[in-house]
Amino acid sequence: MRLSGIKLAGFKSFVDPTHLPLPSNLTGVVGPNGCGKSNVIDAVRWVLGETSMKNLRSADAEDVIFNGSKTRKPVGRASVELIFDNSDGQIAGPFAAYAEISVRRELMRDGNSQYYLNSRKCLKRDVTDLFLGTGLGGKNQYAIIEQGMVSRMIEAKPEELRQWLEEAAGISKYKDRRRETESR
Ligand code: ATP
Ligand code: MG
Repeated sequence: MRLSGIKLAGFKSFVDPTHLPLPSNLTGVVGPNGCGKSNVIDAVRWVLGETSMKNLRSADAEDVIFNGSKTRKPVGRASVELIFDNSDGQIAGPFAAYAEISVRRELMRDGNSQYYLNSRKCLKRDVTDLFLGTGLGGKNQYAIIEQGMVSRMIEAKPEELRQWLEEAAGISKYKDRRRETESR
């Protein structure tokens, strides 16, 4: 599985529809301070269901919508789409047969939010479920390593460390399902 492209519109500084193709395994994002490099990472986290405002570097949920600049008015909607190349079939389950998987999230200024998988409306839960066990699974994701995370891993308590290992071993999704079944 590989992230092969990101499409943004109205998300933070990306007011106009923008397509960032990621054609190779090695991609670097370079540019002057404040040009939007970190906003790209925030966008990836956001689509995958990030709820921590701190991790999104935002004051509140609607803060991710483009809120205007000297020359442009604010917009009413943020949309981000991640395109994954799944030709290795790493994303299993109902989407295993798809060589390309698109995950999209939209947010309106009135707070309405919607997730899409391959253009079909779905629940946030469907998105997080899909990525459990790939390293992008929910709160135990380790595919995005930001400043401070390495020391957090080194200093982690055994229980926390175990959660990362379970995500890496691909068993967190089964534990999650068991927890859900037991709570019914
Ligand atoms: P650095 O090199 O300093 O880390 P960067 O390239 O990572 O910079 P970002 O933090 O991604 O920069 O982008 C910051 C810019 O995004 C700022 O100019 C900020 O005003 C703009 N920005 C963030 N949120 C919004 C928003 N909701 N609407 C409009 N602009 C926004
Ligand atoms: Mg930055």
